[in-house]
Amino acid sequence: MKVAVIGAGIVGVATAYELALRGAEVTLIEEREGAGLGTSFANGGQMSACEVAPWAGPEIPGLIVRWLGRDDAPFRLRPKMDPEQWYWLLRFLMRCRASARRERIPPNLELALLTRARMAAYEADFRDAAKSFAFDRRDKGILRVFSTAHGLREAAAESETMARLGVEQQLLTPAQCVELEPALVSALQRGEITGGLHSPTDASGDAHLFSKGLAAAAAERGVVLLTGATVADIIIRAGRACGVTTSHGPVDADAVVVAAGTGTAALLKPLGLRSWIYPVKGYSVTLPAPEGNAPEVSITDEARKIVISRLGNRLRAAGQAEVGGYDLTLEPARAASVLSALTSLLPQAGVAADAAEFWCGLRPMTPDGSPVIGRLEPFSNLFINSGHGTLGWTLGAGSGAALADLICDSAPQLSLSPFSIKRF
Ligand SMILES: Cc1cc2nc3c(=O)[nH]c(=O)nc-3n(C[C@H](O)[C@H](O)[C@H](O)COP(=O)(O)OP(=O)(O)OC[C@H]3O[C@@H](n4cnc5c(N)ncnc54)[C@H](O)[C@@H]3O)c2cc1C
Repeated sequence: MKVAVIGAGIVGVATAYELALRGAEVTLIEEREGAGLGTSFANGGQMSACEVAPWAGPEIPGLIVRWLGRDDAPFRLRPKMDPEQWYWLLRFLMRCRASARRERIPPNLELALLTRARMAAYEADFRDAAKSFAFDRRDKGILRVFSTAHGLREAAAESETMARLGVEQQLLTPAQCVELEPALVSALQRGEITGGLHSPTDASGDAHLFSKGLAAAAAERGVVLLTGATVADIIIRAGRACGVTTSHGPVDADAVVVAAGTGTAALLKPLGLRSWIYPVKGYSVTLPAPEGNAPEVSITDEARKIVISRLGNRLRAAGQAEVGGYDLTLEPARAASVLSALTSLLPQAGVAADAAEFWCGLRPMTPDGSPVIGRLEPFSNLFINSGHGTLGWTLGAGSGAALADLICDSAPQLSLSPFSIKRF
């Protein structure tokens, strides 16, 4: 079977690799010059099964109002004359309930665990083939630190649900947080930490390096990677997808997968389909890891709304969420606020701010915080794997495997019904 996969971010690359493992002839089409150069390029690096709860929650509407007009606000709304933004926002606000957030934890977690399993399998495959690729993976877990007792209590309650589903987190006192990660000592001294949750089985790593490495491994399995090729449309004949038109010419296929991140909505619209995916812009800063003082454990600072990951000899912090359309302009003030959140949390680390590399990307977000994976009816051979929002690195490999099972009629490793587009 010939499959065309649109988009070579972490999700598209994993889908292509998993399809090739099942014997499909895959063409992976990417408008940029290589794999992992879109939103998968410089994200926060966390592979965080412990943080699969959606962003939409009861506290969000109040926070949006509190942060209105602030340039460095962790969450910012920029209203557009775009009905898609308003449909999305309405749905998002309707999901800002504790029960709605809880409902999404089990399916997201199951997908995160499948991702862990698939990544372990890839590493074994590469070892057997006497090959490997490095992506600065670090298996020191993720530590979430909280500045309020309320935040800690809420997260601890969610962690009980996760523990029942197989992901243990340990509740830590402020002193235990610093014992685990000494770089947090000054935050403790300033009285900023009321406690933490440590997820020892979570990890961090560089999603761009991984996407690039997996794309190369996919090419060795026969996947054709067409880069610099923009898909203009999906060709439909007699109610079936039979290929795509690209800037390099047509590509025929027996099945088409849209894994185009924030490019997904534009590809589906001419077919009369709404993706329910809207961009949420975020920023990251990458610096040389300060010698001796850089954190070893990946950290989520719940007060500053940033994540920090050590990637080999680099340190990365990421944060910010702006619902403001598709504009990818890097705003210096927004980018600087991520750096200043990092330096204010870890003032003693001595980060070399002048060597900072800033980046911004668009998270392909659904209103409910779960991706959309599955068939796009009424077309029996058109599929979607997109909308991973804040969790594409955490859920990407599992999503690729689950969709490849569906396309190739392999035994399903998890139910895709919670990820169906029909839920909207
Ligand atoms: C600041 C920030 C921090 C983050 N931190 C984390 C984290 O710590 N952990 C985590 O799990 N997730 C994190 N994420 C989210 C994660 O990065 C995304 O969910 C993930 O990268 C999405 O992957 P993707 O493959 O769907 O999209 P992309 O990586 O954007 O890939 C889609 C690809 O499709 C291509 N494309 C689009 N349209 C077309 C077309 N018409 N023709 C051809 N090609 C096309 C694009 O060029 C792009 O390369 C973060 C995101 C941001 C912005």
